[in-house]
Amino acid sequence: MSIAIAIDGPAGAGKSTIAKMAAKELGFIYVDTGALYRAIGLYAYRKGVSGDDRDAVEALLNEIKVELSFNDKGVQIVLLNGEDVSGLIRTPEISMMASAVSAIPAVRAFLLDTQRDMAHTKNVIMDGRDIGTVVLPDAKLKIFLFASPECRAKRRYDQLLADGKEVNFEDVLRDVIERDYNDSHRDIAPLKPADDAIMVDTSDEDRDTSIERLLKIMRDHI
Ligand code: C5P
Repeated sequence: MSIAIAIDGPAGAGKSTIAKMAAKELGFIYVDTGALYRAIGLYAYRKGVSGDDRDAVEALLNEIKVELSFNDKGVQIVLLNGEDVSGLIRTPEISMMASAVSAIPAVRAFLLDTQRDMAHTKNVIMDGRDIGTVVLPDAKLKIFLFASPECRAKRRYDQLLADGKEVNFEDVLRDVIERDYNDSHRDIAPLKPADDAIMVDTSDEDRDTSIERLLKIMRDHI
């Protein structure tokens, strides 16, 4: 039987950094489900379709194949109709598109099996918004990571700068707050902790401290 660890939480709480490191330590596969929504957001963006136009986005799904694969270093690669779009989906525009398309029930249904299949055969640490509540409700361990909007915006801002992107802090903070609102107010699979999730606040904590703390929780549970 494979083991699944679900990590949910808002953008910038440290999910991907922590999950990636922890997966390496534990020998699990790290699955970043946000990348799937981002790939669909990118496809709609390229087609000039608004993320809010539910019917138009739904109609595009017939044309889309999204897959996650892993290179020899275990790093996740996102394939959109066979094209590696891993580097193209990390822009502020595609973040907002992903947030918009992720509120469409047909999009969530479309991605459900892809996510579940990955946890079927492999030990995974899967991060997202609804992993513990919808995708893997039987996960062995569920963690909900959160931090204040300002801390999360600062981390995202530093990351975008490090990636050579031109951004200003106020815009990043506004996007964080808007995405939080969208993600937690949508009708389907809103961002919220599972009843049995362990709540972890990473505000004002450095990355290594959070990783140590999370690894301890994981080792105690698997
Ligand atoms: O985690 P990341 O920021 O890459 O996710 C991009 C967007 O995809 C989120 O803002 C959220 O709206 C959506 N998402 C989701 N469910 C998931 C993962 C991501 O709705 N499991």
